[in-house]
Amino acid sequence: MTTKLNKYLTNSYYYKGIKFEEYTIELKDNKIIGRPIIKHDTKINVVNNVDGLEILLSLCNLYNKYTYKESTNDDNLELGIKNWCNQHVHPANNNNLIRTIELFDYKKDNLSKRKQDVYIKELHEAIDKYVRFNVEEFKNQLERLTTNFNMWYALDMACNHNNIDLLQVRINNGMIAPTTDLIYIINNSKKSKERINKIKKISWRILGKMIYFMPASKRKLIYLKDRDAFEYSIYTDSIFDIALDVFGTLIKNTYNNNQYAHKIIVCENCGDYFIRTGSTQRYCNKKECQAARNRNKVKAFNERNRI
Ligand SMILES: [Zn+2]
Repeated sequence: MTTKLNKYLTNSYYYKGIKFEEYTIELKDNKIIGRPIIKHDTKINVVNNVDGLEILLSLCNLYNKYTYKESTNDDNLELGIKNWCNQHVHPANNNNLIRTIELFDYKKDNLSKRKQDVYIKELHEAIDKYVRFNVEEFKNQLERLTTNFNMWYALDMACNHNNIDLLQVRINNGMIAPTTDLIYIINNSKKSKERINKIKKISWRILGKMIYFMPASKRKLIYLKDRDAFEYSIYTDSIFDIALDVFGTLIKNTYNNNQYAHKIIVCENCGDYFIRTGSTQRYCNKKECQAARNRNKVKAFNERNRI
């Protein structure tokens, strides 16, 4: 999905990633390790145009789902991480993997069948040392990203969109810790203009402290084969750097009350973040959320027509 919003947010930055088809999570040397399942016929694709906004929102939805909604033994965060990798891109060691695969790509042309088999074996051996990732580390980074994103989102809603309820709800359900600053914002949100300016100032101060955890990012000139163009891309090993790069742009735009920022909304049925395509859209595109939307439509119609 490449949205207009994402194009705006990322300006001309493109993210490169690797996509494997299937993942497994296992215990190795007392560490929980995630890795793709690589068989002889496994397809490994370099994705040239990774959607950074989709990466950011899907990671936050992943954490929120398993932390603040119900999860069972059969469906836990580790399984969620595995599914996330299947659906999106490989989470770590991006640069080494891409470099190795692209290097092998040059050798691939005009190989006989027998040589191709050797080529695939060598490629799999070459990438083997880069494909594993530490699941605990993934979880830690996911928690830090999401708790900060949840805070930013609630503050943006309170300051720029006159919606204080979300901040209150998130404090009530433990998503956000109730600091004195936040309580002040809640108690003064619907008062005079001066108060509103003050709560904005407090919000920016909270965000200003928050951004210290964000990493500095390096950019690298890349050649995009499919577009026949050169672009600057963030040079990173990790999907969390990509997510934070986009998040940083959102924070910057929130401060300027940017019109694009509030296109990200929370689904009224499942609570996931999603990008709304119409100005009145309140439910995400998941099947169960569209069903909830239709149920509520019928209910509202019946209430209107009751005598
Ligand atoms: Zn939904």
